[in-house]
Amino acid sequence: MRVWRLSASNISVFLSCPYRYKLQYNDRVPNLEVPNEYAPPGSAFHSTAERYFSKYPNPPLDINKFLEILAEEFPKNGCSSSKYGDMCNVVREWAKRFNFPKKILALEQKVEIDLPNGVPILSYLDIIEEIDEDTIRVRDWKTGQIYSDDDLDDNIQAPLYILGAKQLYPDKRVEFIFDFIKYNEVQYPYDNNQMRTFVKWLKGIYQAILSMDEKDAKPRLGSCRFCSYSDKCPTMDKARKGGFQISPQTSESLDNLIEYQYNISNAVKSLDDEKARLKGLIMDKMDEETYEAGDYKAKMVRSKRTEYDTKTVINAFRGTKYFNDIITIDKKKVKEHLDSLPEHKKAEIEDSEKSKYQNPYVRISKKKGR
Ligand code: SF4
Repeated sequence: MRVWRLSASNISVFLSCPYRYKLQYNDRVPNLEVPNEYAPPGSAFHSTAERYFSKYPNPPLDINKFLEILAEEFPKNGCSSSKYGDMCNVVREWAKRFNFPKKILALEQKVEIDLPNGVPILSYLDIIEEIDEDTIRVRDWKTGQIYSDDDLDDNIQAPLYILGAKQLYPDKRVEFIFDFIKYNEVQYPYDNNQMRTFVKWLKGIYQAILSMDEKDAKPRLGSCRFCSYSDKCPTMDKARKGGFQISPQTSESLDNLIEYQYNISNAVKSLDDEKARLKGLIMDKMDEETYEAGDYKAKMVRSKRTEYDTKTVINAFRGTKYFNDIITIDKKKVKEHLDSLPEHKKAEIEDSEKSKYQNPYVRISKKKGR
């Protein structure tokens, strides 16, 4: 198989599913757009941080300016405005504990290097900070769940990015932190021995990918949630049609039972993810509340809620004494202060008001009597 440069993403894909690696990185097959409900707010935060720190690289952090940029980036990154209020609250809390670095050296830095053992690698460093004249720190924003100790031990991204930073700043000591904006900062602990072991491991991965041929690139269920090739995957197809026939007997060895259990759990997890993806696709296609298809009936179940357009509200309240109150687009506060605005601004906000259906889901059942 081909490998251009090892990155945290292509290594993870190779380790979780060789077949997906083949389709994505070797054959470069065009993929399905898989909705990822976590990615958009994460990408909005990344682009906000990049814009904010390139414009205001010195302390203190101005939370209102940060939130103003976030308000612009949120819709640009395709994020649902229903998540905007929560994200603002997270960002406010994060800003209180953010320790402004002595100096920001680089933002969104891409580093491509060939390691001395011949392995080509690629890193993307969110932000590089100067701590003192001997030390730099790489900060990686994370908008998801905080890592467990095991997640940290198995992490590929941190050591890969440390190698990238060392290439850029060979005379400096490099620290690395994951900044989990909903939780806290977590320093990635490492020493030179660990890095040497990691570099050897990278070499092994690089060789394993290069020497993998078509027949070795088999689908592996278990990490299918955001796989954008599930429509081209024979194993997923078989699982969808209920094609697994694993019915171990009590006489099976414990080893076999454990292996069956592992495979079944992975298949169930993958099918659950696939079920969620299919429901999303069905809901996109359904114009009516109910739809009948042969033996099946689909009913959209949803509750209604009101939302304002983020940009319209922020522009209308800019410069008023209520700006700080509404920057998080708290609907109660917007309603409360609406009468304080000139009529034309009030009308703009009211026109931007939309009724959205929240957390819809589809219930599929077989028709009675069949
Ligand atoms: S659906 Fe799952 S098993 Fe199939 S290619 Fe994607 S990750 Fe691999």
